[in-house]
Amino acid sequence: MRVAVGGYLVAVNTFATQKMGLDLFQRATLSGERALQVGGAQGSIAGFLHGARQRHWDIVPLPFVVPGVGGKVTAEAHTAATAGFLDLLRQNPPVDGVFLQLHGTAVSDECDDCEGDLLSTLREFLGDKTPILATLDGHSNTTPLMVEQASMLIGVKTNPHYDFFPGGEQAARVMAGMFDGSVTPTSAWAQPAMAPALQKIYIAPGWPMEALMRQAHHLGRDPRVLDVSLLGGFFCSDIPETGISVTVTTNNEPALAHDIAERVKDACWAKRQAFHTDMVPVEEGVRAAIEAEDGLVVLGDLADSGGAGTPGDGTVLLAELLRQNAQGAVVGNITDPEAAQEAVRAGIGKQVTLSVGGKVDAFHGAPVEISGRVRVIQDGVYSAATAFNAGTYRRGATAVVDCGGVEVILTSRPTHGFEANHFRSLGIEPTQRKILAVKSELQHRAGFAGIASAFIDVDTPGRATQVHARLPYEKIRRPVFPLDDI
Ligand SMILES: [Zn+2]
Repeated sequence: MRVAVGGYLVAVNTFATQKMGLDLFQRATLSGERALQVGGAQGSIAGFLHGARQRHWDIVPLPFVVPGVGGKVTAEAHTAATAGFLDLLRQNPPVDGVFLQLHGTAVSDECDDCEGDLLSTLREFLGDKTPILATLDGHSNTTPLMVEQASMLIGVKTNPHYDFFPGGEQAARVMAGMFDGSVTPTSAWAQPAMAPALQKIYIAPGWPMEALMRQAHHLGRDPRVLDVSLLGGFFCSDIPETGISVTVTTNNEPALAHDIAERVKDACWAKRQAFHTDMVPVEEGVRAAIEAEDGLVVLGDLADSGGAGTPGDGTVLLAELLRQNAQGAVVGNITDPEAAQEAVRAGIGKQVTLSVGGKVDAFHGAPVEISGRVRVIQDGVYSAATAFNAGTYRRGATAVVDCGGVEVILTSRPTHGFEANHFRSLGIEPTQRKILAVKSELQHRAGFAGIASAFIDVDTPGRATQVHARLPYEKIRRPVFPLDDI
């Protein structure tokens, strides 16, 4: 068998102002062997290839488009990417099956459902019989079109996500069953009227999503069921299907798939009140962190998270930490290539006064003037050692400026700062500081578990604000929780 493998890992916050264009897409499209290495040894592709090699399938590499997260994709970039997949399929006939790693949130200027569009294009080219399977991120805003056009979609079951490999492996197993005729994947999709904030879809003991995942897993134990994917969705996106969805795939049991999807949907709806956000005003959060008796407090700047497509240059929390003179605080990062370069040029030990952040758009606070001593300069490359989001990060030219007891990390590219190595790589030991301010939506809760004594999510402004009413939704289905009081 000859199987084509690639990916379209494009995460879009439709409210973010920095669009993803053709140049970025071209730079971020991997081909050949490099396309097959995306995600490393624990990735979806690695999982699928593991299953494919066991079955001695030939592999045809497709493009892997991996530009990261940002604002909407231009129509031109999405069209070119789709053409890239088709070109490779045309050049490598015959292809017996396709496996893709998808994110599930790609939106372009002209298309609210880029994954649905890509799958439709491949389906049209390959015909109804060819297996097309894909894995999805846990933040996927899955649509009926995606479910209809793919043979099967498999979502991760963790958040933060670390179970990509098993999803890929499972896709190879189901594809093998389709090849020998023993499996006919039949899917159903359902969606409660819910689009909870990122803060609330953490999957950990005591959190509502974890209880729902257990319920979904339990219903999926029927041997006729191949997979139940309950996904939290990505609420910073204005399309009709934004939010929680459940996709159930059975071995040719459509009524059963439908029944389980409806039951999981109803269970989510019954629990909706547990998904209300829980944000603390910035001034109050900083004061509580300063007054904390002992241990490390992590302040979450969720509205400008490195994982949510915002510029990463939000300054409101920085300004408040300086105003309250929060000794022992570290601002995990302000993305500002100009200011970072200026600090690098000044050199270690030098005194600098810089205008930092608040430069990309009007949604993340004004530039803030900082004065301090440059303590560290670096190329910004480091490795995250966590089970999720592991790998090498490139923050670009990076500097640490010590502003009289409040340290500020200036990076050239947006980053999460969701775990200890982000700080340790810059000579900052988190356990020896009092406060860390991080631009992360929930990964930091897992990344600093066992290190931090408290987490406070502060209500900063930004295009990933956890307050739905502040986002200019137009297309999302209404009514929807928690935007509407239902
Ligand atoms: Zn995700």
